[in-house]
Amino acid sequence: MDTFIKEIDQKKSVQDDQFPLFSDMATAGHEQVLVCSRPDVGLKAIIAIHDTTLGPALGGTRMWTYKNESDAMRDVLRLSRGMTYKAAISGLNLGGGKAVIIGDPYKDKNEHLFRAFGRFVDGLGGRYITAEDVGMSEQDMEWIYSETKYVTGIPKSMGGSGDPSPVTAYGVYMGMKSATKKAYGSDSLKGKKIAIQGAGNVASNLARYIAKEGATIYITDIFKEKAEKVAAECSAAYVSPDEIYGLDADIFSPCALGGVVNDDTLPALNCDIIAGGANNILEDEVKHGNALSDRGIIYAPDYVINAGGIINISSELEGYNEELAMRKTARIYDTVTNILDYADENSLTTVEASNRLAEERIESTGRTGRIYSSSSHFSNRKGELYMRDRR
Ligand code: NAD
Repeated sequence: MDTFIKEIDQKKSVQDDQFPLFSDMATAGHEQVLVCSRPDVGLKAIIAIHDTTLGPALGGTRMWTYKNESDAMRDVLRLSRGMTYKAAISGLNLGGGKAVIIGDPYKDKNEHLFRAFGRFVDGLGGRYITAEDVGMSEQDMEWIYSETKYVTGIPKSMGGSGDPSPVTAYGVYMGMKSATKKAYGSDSLKGKKIAIQGAGNVASNLARYIAKEGATIYITDIFKEKAEKVAAECSAAYVSPDEIYGLDADIFSPCALGGVVNDDTLPALNCDIIAGGANNILEDEVKHGNALSDRGIIYAPDYVINAGGIINISSELEGYNEELAMRKTARIYDTVTNILDYADENSLTTVEASNRLAEERIESTGRTGRIYSSSSHFSNRKGELYMRDRR
């Protein structure tokens, strides 16, 4: 036993150097991190709860082949913090959380792994609510759901809200219109030249919205036939993946992958607005946010305009109503207007403005929470009301 503890102690001191967990948590403001281990079923998972001032922490579970455990820890800390900001700026009464399962999503899945994970989620008693993210399938979510009710974004076949992409696309469309109003004085997309990167779930739904308004659309995808299919449906023009950056367009809409606004692509960009559904569009939020600002390109922050998905799955927690979810998503228009105005008034980049507004909402709500109330709000914040009668 002594030898075993000594070994752990030695390993721990190495690990402390590699990732100083408590100082990382303190810096980024995390409340709780749960490390879940069940070697018999191959489960290695980390659940991070960033901030629950506004409500239970909501965020998907990602399964990924991380290079090492520190990478997984960093990713879950980063992603859960991002969820706090996304929920806050979207006006949701939810906090930010995220979970990662370390493993190969093509090789390491089994029913017992996900059921064990579901039990860990359940053990948090509603402080963390999970959903589907990269590397997860409907089947995996079904196994998790069989062990805990703290799951949302479940398939329609299981009584949930199903694929959030159409709602995400609607939010991107609303955010794009708001940025268009700021740039041109009118939010009409008629005749605007819009370059869409990607022709997947979000992009194809977005293309339908903007085609209806009479925009001139250019679309690309690494799978040419996918882009050509959307192009045919929306009277758009197909362009090659490399061409999309330098097009003479009013709006560039990245809807494929992150990091596409970077040192290499920025000089080529020839647009007035960037508004897309992809996550983490700016490779470096500060550097590239400032560069866009200097060039007078309006950037509608990605996490604000692609929040339709989380708005949709959060609606499921209170009994899903599609119309209500769409109405809440339409508010992205006003949120973007506020952010763009606030950025102007305070000489901030739009990301800085958005982050600041999100932080202000959390702080003000936290202060309101100091007033004693015996109403349901407290229960709400513990995640109990949300999940009542769900199963
Ligand atoms: P998707 O997989 O359906 O579509 C992505 C498309 O991008 C694919 O067709 C792919 O071939 C294409 N692509 C990949 N690399 C490309 C490249 N270099 N150039 C051109 N095309 C490329 O994914 P999706 O659900 O439409 O999501 C798109 C983006 O939006 C992702 O970044 C995702 O994280 C983000 N997002 C999606 C949702 C949602 O509800 N689906 C919510 C929030 C954010």
